[in-house]
Amino acid sequence: MKHLLRVAYFCSANAGLPLLVRTMHKRRYGQFPRVLFAHRVIDFTQPLFSFFMGLDFLTVPDFCRRLEYLRKNFKIISIDEYARYVQTGEEPQSNTIVLTFDDGYRCFYTRIFPLLKKFNIPATMFLCTECLEKGAILLHDRLGYIVATSLVTKFSLPELDSRTYSLGSEGERVQVFRDVGAKIHTMSHDDKVRTVDRLSEVLKVDESGIPRHVPMLSWSEVREMLCSGLVTFGAHTVSHPILTSIGMREARYEISHSKAVMEKELDVPVRFMAYPNGADEDFNESIKAAVKEAGYDLAFTTISRFGSQIDPYELPRDGFSSSESISRFKLRVSGFFDFCGPPVIGKLWRER
Ligand SMILES: [Zn+2]
Repeated sequence: MKHLLRVAYFCSANAGLPLLVRTMHKRRYGQFPRVLFAHRVIDFTQPLFSFFMGLDFLTVPDFCRRLEYLRKNFKIISIDEYARYVQTGEEPQSNTIVLTFDDGYRCFYTRIFPLLKKFNIPATMFLCTECLEKGAILLHDRLGYIVATSLVTKFSLPELDSRTYSLGSEGERVQVFRDVGAKIHTMSHDDKVRTVDRLSEVLKVDESGIPRHVPMLSWSEVREMLCSGLVTFGAHTVSHPILTSIGMREARYEISHSKAVMEKELDVPVRFMAYPNGADEDFNESIKAAVKEAGYDLAFTTISRFGSQIDPYELPRDGFSSSESISRFKLRVSGFFDFCGPPVIGKLWRER
């Protein structure tokens, strides 16, 4: 029975159901554009491929299949066009979607940008300026590299808890990355850095190989993509701290300095920002006020549930995920799950 239900779900999800859902969604909620976000698109030839797969990163074929569906069923619009809809309250005339990417990984240039050019598709990348300015490595990438490459197979770290962690298999390494990541998430930024430093010592990892494993974009690549007219760049702070885990003074610096650096380097206004991590607990009203004060027009979360009202500084995004089947992806971007949760933003959008 369960199997039959699965077959029925698969058939309907691949046949007319997404189209039916889109029609119903449009009738009920209007055509508020959905924004999608991704981080890395990985290739099986790259180092640590199976570890990254465990972290749910998209492979190139995964991304291409999803992009093909989006191209055929939606108009992919630029973030500037999206901003116009947010600011004016106008509704697009057709099904629209926005593609965004976070953190500034070089695979965006090598694997995504060629596809954007081939199909003439706009996209947005949110950059952390310290990576471009100083070659800095983001803390979650340090943690991933340490856990994925250590030759130590068991460890404990009193700074975290009293547990003994095992790094015996790839699956265990992925789990340790998730568990340690969750533990340090609630720490202050300085304590997070100290804990990752300590972990690096305990796991005896030489971190000099990280840039080769996790290459980031350079300013020249960013400029080339900007000149194509297809890629818009937004800010993702200077060093990617969780903004609620640092003081307000530091948060203001992260928010405004990243904008200033990008505007100086690229000579264009930087109007958009994405909060690091972007979950409910990663920003608050004071952070949103600081973002507005710094001169940004819109700021994006990673909350897929649409909010109860339109807030240009708390805009929802849906993540891409390799573990999500293409059938479920089609239903999700068509709005199927909006019928299962709280009222979506589009309804209020239409009513205002
Ligand atoms: Zn990020």
